[in-house]
Amino acid sequence: MNLHEYQSRDLLSKYNVIFPKGEVGSSSEEIYQIVKKFNSEVVVKAQIHSGGRGKAGGVKLCKTPEDAKKFADDLIGKKIVTNQTDSDGVIVEKLLVTELTQINKEIYLSIIIDPDIEGPVMIASSEGGMEIEKIAEDSPEKIIKIVFDPVLGLKPYQIRQITNLLGIPKKSVGQFYNLVSNLYKAFLETDSTLIEINPLVLDEKENVIPLDCKINIDDDTQFRQKSIFELRDKNQENPMETRAKDFDLAYVKLDKGNVGCLVNGAGLAMATMDVTTKSGCFPANFLDVGGSTDKDKIKEAFRILVSDEKVEYLLINLFAGIARADLIAEGVVEAAEETSFSLPIIVCMRGTNADIGFKILNDSSLNIHIAENLGHAAELLTSVSGRK
Ligand code: GDP
Ligand code: MN
Repeated sequence: MNLHEYQSRDLLSKYNVIFPKGEVGSSSEEIYQIVKKFNSEVVVKAQIHSGGRGKAGGVKLCKTPEDAKKFADDLIGKKIVTNQTDSDGVIVEKLLVTELTQINKEIYLSIIIDPDIEGPVMIASSEGGMEIEKIAEDSPEKIIKIVFDPVLGLKPYQIRQITNLLGIPKKSVGQFYNLVSNLYKAFLETDSTLIEINPLVLDEKENVIPLDCKINIDDDTQFRQKSIFELRDKNQENPMETRAKDFDLAYVKLDKGNVGCLVNGAGLAMATMDVTTKSGCFPANFLDVGGSTDKDKIKEAFRILVSDEKVEYLLINLFAGIARADLIAEGVVEAAEETSFSLPIIVCMRGTNADIGFKILNDSSLNIHIAENLGHAAELLTSVSGRK
């Protein structure tokens, strides 16, 4: 789960990570009053579940309350498209006003779970700020990765190594050390998978100050992070992905493509993507119903898939292990009839009661194409879509 910047700041303040003074507003009038109260130059920032806001026009330095009010008027209720969102963008409902900090140097700093190392690592660069993606691509040597003991955290010698590489002046090393220790404590205790500070700046007095923050919490820790999960903002999430999550389904919308893919298991999902692409088509999405699926789940999965207007064909690729293929077939038929779905459905199904399942599908009025195996499914997709 993603947190907003203002929520991340609040959470980290409990760990003594102190950001410049800030306040959130959700109307232009509120923003005007906040800036007036601050009585200083400010930065006004759109609160969305995405980075790259600066480049997308979601961050503005404002000299007066009037400037800020106008910016808020232009943004609140609108969608912002960044290099990290899909082409629909995400809605701006809140803005964060912060006091302006003088920047002498911008650093990138994050702690993430590295799947190769199977533990946390720190990523840092002396060239933080809005160009970090470009740096990662053009000069990856400027980004350093520090592996440390997950129990002991970063040792003082590692911190010295990092501060040397980042060019942090001697007098600021203590502040940097405290910041990193506090961030790591927060990372552990909040079950984060990412805490990113970009930029972490040195101001004109060489104070170490975090200016932006992004936190991602491990979805599987909701049971012990209840208070953090109360911060979830569903308006920032893809509504279909949220609906799927509520039914314990994993739905991922993809940007191009016209084949809706209903699968069970992540490995089968990936093979299905490959086969779809091999057929000359592209997946519009994929929906993983999991291993122990039942009829109601299948029906909901079907409804979610076909609600995507880009879907022109369905590819159902399921392995009925614990689940039963006959129940899956019944679910598909009932949901298709309910949604008056008449487009071609290619079905590749194996496992428990597959023969009964095929009979149910064949006896229905749906536009069903039964595939004997995944390769055959690709051929059927090619022919029904007229690719060959
Ligand atoms: P992002 O683009 O979504 O990562 O949003 P940020 O909060 O990181 O803001 C984008 C950029 O605005 C930063 O990289 C800074 O260069 C600039 N910025 C943000 N806050 C301040 C500030 O207090 N002072 C100055 N001078 N620049 C700021
Ligand atoms: Mn940033």
